[in-house]
Parts: sequence; C-alpha cells; structure tokens
Amino acid sequence: MPDQHNGPPTAPNPASPTDKTTADGPSASRPRVLILGGTSEARELAGSLPAFAVITSLAGRTSSPLLPAGEVRIGGFGGADGLAAYLRTQHIDVLVDATHPFAATISGNAAEAAGSAGVPLIVLRRPGWTEQAGDVWHRVRDLREAASLLPQLGHRVFLTTGRQGIAAFAEVDAWFLARSVEPPEPPMPGRLEVLLDRGPFTLAGERRLLAGHRIDVLVSKDSGGPGAKLVAARESGLPVVMVDRPPTPATAHTVVCVAEAVERLTTLRDAR
Ligand code: NAP
Repeated sequence: MPDQHNGPPTAPNPASPTDKTTADGPSASRPRVLILGGTSEARELAGSLPAFAVITSLAGRTSSPLLPAGEVRIGGFGGADGLAAYLRTQHIDVLVDATHPFAATISGNAAEAAGSAGVPLIVLRRPGWTEQAGDVWHRVRDLREAASLLPQLGHRVFLTTGRQGIAAFAEVDAWFLARSVEPPEPPMPGRLEVLLDRGPFTLAGERRLLAGHRIDVLVSKDSGGPGAKLVAARESGLPVVMVDRPPTPATAHTVVCVAEAVERLTTLRDAR
C-alpha cells in the first residue's frame, strides 16, 4: 500500500486534492494522521495504527534516523503557516505532536497550524521525572541557569542535554563528558569528551560511565522515560541539575502514552 511502506525517507510530496479519494483499497477510507516525530513514542505510535493512513514527519537532525512504519517525510515545514498548508494539501484529519518535550518551537507551530487549518491536535507527552528519596536534584529553568550552577556542584560533569544543549556550557570551567547522537558543533567547552550514543541505556552501563569517568555531577533535561542515569546518580549520591520543561500549548488535548493516543484517535475516527 502506498501509505504504509518502510523504505527510505521521502521528500515532502504534496498530494493533489484528489489523492485522498482516489487511493486504492482500504486506505481510501482510512483517516489521515500526521505524526510529528523524533521520539520513540512517535515510532511506536506509527506502528500501532493499522486503521489509519500514517505519515510521520522528522526534522532531519540525525543522519541515520530510526524510521517508523508508514510514510515518512523529512525536514521543516517553514513555520506554522507552512505546516498549516501541509495539513490542508495533504488532507490530514488529525495531527499528533509526539515530539520531544523540549522541542518547543515545533509544538507551538503545531498548535497554531492545527487551529488555523481546523485539524484536531493530540499532544503525546511522556510524563516528566519526579524526585525520589535519595535524589539530590537542583531544578533550573533552562540550560543557562544549569551552566551557572555547575562550578559550585562539581568539576567532572556528565552532560546529557543533547548536541544542541552543549553550547550553553562553553564558558564553564569544568571537565565534561557529553553524550549525544550526533557530534556537537562549536561553541563547546574546552575540556570535553564526546560520547556518541543513542538510548535506551542500561543501569549497569550508566553505573560504569559514572564510575569510570569519576563523574561528580549529572546535568539532564526533564525528558521523562526510563532514566537509568538518574537511578545510577541516586545510588552514588551524585547531585543532578535537572532542567525544567518548556510549557505545553494550553489548548491541546494531551495524552501521556501511546495507548492513550491510540484511544483518542479511535474516538475521533468513530465520531467522523
Ligand atoms: P524545535 O526547536 O522545536 O523546532 C525547530 C524547527 O525544526 C521547527 O520550527 C521545524 O521547522 C523543525 N522541526 C522540528 N521538529 C520537526 C518535525 N518533527 N518535523 C518537521 N520539522 C520539524 O525542535 P528541536 O528541539 O530542534 O528538535 C528537533 C526534532 O528532534 C524534534 O522532532 C524532536 O522530537 C527531536 N528531538 C528533540 C530533542 C530535544 O531535546 N530538543 C531530543 C530528542 C529528539 P519549520 O519551522 O521549518 O517547520
């Protein structure tokens, strides 16, 4: 079926207004869902919707992304207006924002575009982390505040804020182990070791990293998810600088897991 292939990523391919109604077989009547992706939940959701025609959109930040089931398009839309135009020309019935909790710009664009195109929006956001007994957390509003706290908290830092977050620490006088999927670009701290890796990470592996590099402070975004690094830090009594999430657009229908997203999509489909 043309809308359920697993091949290489395709460039945006605006459909003609007749594409929706002339498709062959059951896809002709399946609601069209655009998933804004880049997360494991987005991939899982794309593989959980046999009753829908699914397109996943990726920003194109990583050179070899893990591809979800269904159709994939890669690259920006050109702001909220571009996304709204895509929703219209592709006859999208529901938009799912399953992007990372820190991808605030695309989430804002999704809310605006869904509103102007009259397309229902579901936001799929995994819950953030909660401090537990034994944790020594310092919550901060952003990366800049995290950088300003560091010299007091430790001098061998495990930085897990992703490639784009490393620049905020360029002027901090400390040694950094930074983990990211893609190599970071300047500006970067002078004393930096880069570890290119992609999760999920095991507790045993995180323990080895902390001990092997004599880490004395961990910096993390409040991304949510398994969080083995937080367990390892807790066990070692290490301080954690935890960067708060940006706010979610207030108007969206928010769900916290893939099963809830499937349920909501099914409800919207049945109400058509
Ligand atoms: P962002 O700052 O919110 O978005 C910047 C621009 O990138 C957007 O305005 C949009 O360009 C484009 N874009 C972002 N996500 C897109 C998507 N799924 N499909 C098409 N275009 C997209 O985003 P970011 O923080 O750089 O994150 C980029 C991607 O990486 C997201 O999809 C996110 O899920 C994933 N990710 C982010 C993080 C993180 O910590 N931020 C971590 C893991 C994964 P146009 O305005 O031109 O449409």
